[in-house]
Amino acid sequence: MREERTEVLVVGAGPVGLLTAILLAEAGIEVKIIDREERTTARSYACALHARTLKLLSQLGLAAPVLERGRRVQVMAFYDGATRQAELKLSELGGEFPYMVILPQNVFEGVLEERLRKAGVTVSWNHRFDDVQGAGETVVANVEELGATGTGYIVPHWEAVVKRNFPVRAQFLVGADGHGSLVRQRLGIENTQGAGQEFFAAYEFEPEEKVENEVRVVLDASTTNVLWPLAGNRYRWTFQLLKAEMAREFPEKERVGMRFAQKAVDERIRQYVQEAAKRRAPWFSAGVKEITWCTEVVFEHRVARQFGRDRCWLAGDAAHQTGPVGVQSMNVGLAEAATLAGALRRILREKAPLEVLAACDRDWQVEWRRLLGLAGGLKPRKEASPWARERGGRILPCLPASHEDLPRLASQLGFDV
Ligand SMILES: Cc1cc2nc3c(=O)[nH]c(=O)nc-3n(C[C@H](O)[C@H](O)[C@H](O)COP(=O)(O)OP(=O)(O)OC[C@H]3O[C@@H](n4cnc5c(N)ncnc54)[C@H](O)[C@@H]3O)c2cc1C
Repeated sequence: MREERTEVLVVGAGPVGLLTAILLAEAGIEVKIIDREERTTARSYACALHARTLKLLSQLGLAAPVLERGRRVQVMAFYDGATRQAELKLSELGGEFPYMVILPQNVFEGVLEERLRKAGVTVSWNHRFDDVQGAGETVVANVEELGATGTGYIVPHWEAVVKRNFPVRAQFLVGADGHGSLVRQRLGIENTQGAGQEFFAAYEFEPEEKVENEVRVVLDASTTNVLWPLAGNRYRWTFQLLKAEMAREFPEKERVGMRFAQKAVDERIRQYVQEAAKRRAPWFSAGVKEITWCTEVVFEHRVARQFGRDRCWLAGDAAHQTGPVGVQSMNVGLAEAATLAGALRRILREKAPLEVLAACDRDWQVEWRRLLGLAGGLKPRKEASPWARERGGRILPCLPASHEDLPRLASQLGFDV
């Protein structure tokens, strides 16, 4: 069995893994990136890029393709039923990007994969990480190359089979393998839990009217809901479900964007979305013309107790998760990718000590403890409205910001953080 070698092995070609690989490759570091799926995702999933992320992307010359394909939004409004309770003005963040960009995750991943290719690296799709062992100043990961085989007679379907197993020896391994991270499990790293699980259903649709250019969050007494204006005159409603009428597993992301015609079912879903919107957001008058996608998903509030150790490190959803509205997990994951790639470059090229990675871990823990409310949460000042005070814990994961921008947005609602 031939051993492959590289300086850094990145496991997972989601946004965080792709960005890590781009930054390493462009720093002249040999990188291999694998993903167990056969291609990038096909849906909008985490569909907003924070102002701080845009700044990071612009340093790489990637802001332009993102701005071209996305929708700039300057206002996030908070409603409770029919009443507009508060609003965040991202324009007050100042700087070059005083807005967030609404961009479907699949489009963003396409931009990143193209850039990675330009840097001379192609993703090894259909390659699954299985295990990792330390070996002196290197690690050796066991990787499985997957193929598909047709099974079933009456109803044929495709199943992944392992075509071959091979070791990859690397100086470092980055686990950017998402919510169920096998890298984290193999390292035996537990999570610190914040609030409990939350269940959501998301519906993407074409409305009857023109899409309005703001993100609207509906925080009623018991549910958190959000209306995203997508590019191309489409919306996405994400409703929090109170009862677990759904699978408890976080779903795998779809890789094919096609939906089979299911007229009667789509009509029932369309009516459900209209009715749910009427109940939760009586101001919503745009109507639902056609449902183009729907899914259910459960989110946890957690962070890994350590982001890694020795020569194996985690970034993105592999290490954390929070609620969907503020899109903090992906955006902060992208910042982690940049810090981690910089630290690995310093170790590999400038002989910096491994301790720089432990320092990254300390900073990330501080940020995540803050984002998960484990460091005291949002602290109301006297001008915070009673409505906002009551919902401080639920507002925190809705803020489309982290790091230095988080207190600036929180402050607009009368909170310190
Ligand atoms: C239905 C749904 C809706 C969502 N909606 C929102 C939302 O509204 N707001 C929000 O903030 N977030 C949302 N998310 C979550 C969001 O998609 C993630 O935060 C984001 O993808 C994290 O990026 P990542 O690169 O860290 O991980 P991922 O994008 O999950 O990438 C991980 C990659 O690792 C690969 N992988 C996993 N295991 C292995 C292995 N053993 N070997 C090789 N490869 C492996 C996976 O195939 C995947 O491509 C949603 C997710 C889903 C599924």
